[in-house]
Amino acid sequence: MSDLFNFSAGPAMLPKEVMQQAREELLNWNNTGVSVMEFSHRDPAYVKMARQAEQDLRDLLNITDDYEVLFLQGGGRGQFSAVPQNIAAKSATVDYLDTGIWSGYAIREAAKYVSKVNVAGGCLETGKGKAIAPQEQWQLSDNAAYFHYCTNETVDGIALHTPPAGIEAPLVADMSSNILSEPLDVSKFGIIYAGAQKNIGPSGFAIAIVKKDLLGEPQPELSSIMDYQLQAKDGSMYNTPNTFAWYLSGLVFQWLKRQGGLAGIGQLNQQKAQLLYDYVDQSEFYRNEVHPDYRSIMNVPFQLADDSLDQKFLQEAAAAGLIGLKGHRFVGGMRASLYNAMPIAGVQTLIDFMDQFQRKL
Ligand code: PMP
Repeated sequence: MSDLFNFSAGPAMLPKEVMQQAREELLNWNNTGVSVMEFSHRDPAYVKMARQAEQDLRDLLNITDDYEVLFLQGGGRGQFSAVPQNIAAKSATVDYLDTGIWSGYAIREAAKYVSKVNVAGGCLETGKGKAIAPQEQWQLSDNAAYFHYCTNETVDGIALHTPPAGIEAPLVADMSSNILSEPLDVSKFGIIYAGAQKNIGPSGFAIAIVKKDLLGEPQPELSSIMDYQLQAKDGSMYNTPNTFAWYLSGLVFQWLKRQGGLAGIGQLNQQKAQLLYDYVDQSEFYRNEVHPDYRSIMNVPFQLADDSLDQKFLQEAAAAGLIGLKGHRFVGGMRASLYNAMPIAGVQTLIDFMDQFQRKL
């Protein structure tokens, strides 16, 4: 199966080197004679590994001491409710940008916990494709408790590549599908969170990077496992963490460091996305409907000129070792997810396949 390339949007491909290491260590982790899954999270050997993973993440993202780094459960959606309950009063207004399917889910969840979710802006159609409305058009509220947006809409393939400037409320970003894909200035954000199953590790796990000065006044009903301050105090071990996911994420962070950190992987990610978008743009048969300035580097949706060929495309792609290309069930078409673990050879093989497919018609 060495020639298989997995373009799944998540759970997604993880670095082969990491998976091989995990396999080698599966039954005997750290010379303990048992699997890391069978080992106490309170044991000093586990705690050492867990703290090293945190340090590696801090190194990769240059996270300063005024931020907590939390390893949590409940994936990306868990954070949709954790954020408002941790940093907004019930009477608060919060601002959200609505740029796609995941922003929509985040908005509907937040609405359960605060008095008003103001949708400050969203997408618009332009002659060059779907774009995010320019910041001048956003309708911000006075005194919003925070401003939330999704840096990369996994389904729609739309991204806001630079954090908005000049917004008074703390910026909160859902980076589930593009965290660790390129260098990032964490200091611009109040909270960054991500479900793990794209660029970090196994699903069900989540990371939250939280500016300490936002904490202290959670909503009274906030459940303890979602309580950032409590989790920070307990080193993200208030409840038993997902020990395997934490371990595997740690291996991914070390792998990323070996790739030259975020600068190294960021360059490769740009190259991969550019190759695919360039091919799609020059093709008469395939198309991407997102404005070039807002195209995702991680998730490339594309449509075939004739959608009755979608099934044939997917079948032949799978036979050629290219899997996970089916678009999200809400939008159809195709989607190639090019997360950190996808080698450039995978993208080249995909392009060759796409080219042959349309030539044969
Ligand atoms: N936000 C984004 C941008 C996502 O892509 C996803 C999952 N695909 C989520 C949130 C939800 O993550 P989870 O399924 O881990 O709750």
